[in-house]
Amino acid sequence: MDDAILITELNDFIFCPVSIYFHKMYKDMDRMIYQNTDQINGNAAHKSVDESTYTTRKDILMGIDVYCEKYNLIGKIDIFDIAKKTLRERKKKVKNIYDGYVFQVYAQYFSLVEMGYDVKKIEIYSIDDHKKYDIPLPYANTDMLFKFEKVIDEIKHFSIHEFIQTNEAKCLHCIYD
Ligand code: SF4
Repeated sequence: MDDAILITELNDFIFCPVSIYFHKMYKDMDRMIYQNTDQINGNAAHKSVDESTYTTRKDILMGIDVYCEKYNLIGKIDIFDIAKKTLRERKKKVKNIYDGYVFQVYAQYFSLVEMGYDVKKIEIYSIDDHKKYDIPLPYANTDMLFKFEKVIDEIKHFSIHEFIQTNEAKCLHCIYD
């Protein structure tokens, strides 16, 4: 499991493959030093999950560690309502449903399914404006599933030495610049 891909890396990799390496490098540093406001807010959004303060209901899984053997992915789920068979990922403020968001919930979905859970619905929830976005299950959106598998394959075969970032705008707004 040493070479497992972190679920959060799926989003980072789409932004810039190099950022994964910086992310790992800074992992042990004080988060306040290098995270931007959005990321800090995002972490706050998950705080209640990590500290299990959201609910004590037994039919709700919160912030549990998961591993998906099929894709060799490791990470955490946000909330899974066992009774409603609904996986929910909360974010501070959703401005757009980016592919990276979808890939993250796909990774959570496949992990839960491997654990034997019946997942029938996926939602991304925007906390600030209380908006809910339904995400079709992976097998109901084969184009997105193909993209998800392609990104995982690219991460597995990525070589930092051969990569050149040609999108300067990304570097301008990058927290690692
Ligand atoms: S500064 Fe540019 S190349 Fe470096 S991680 Fe950020 S986006 Fe990627």
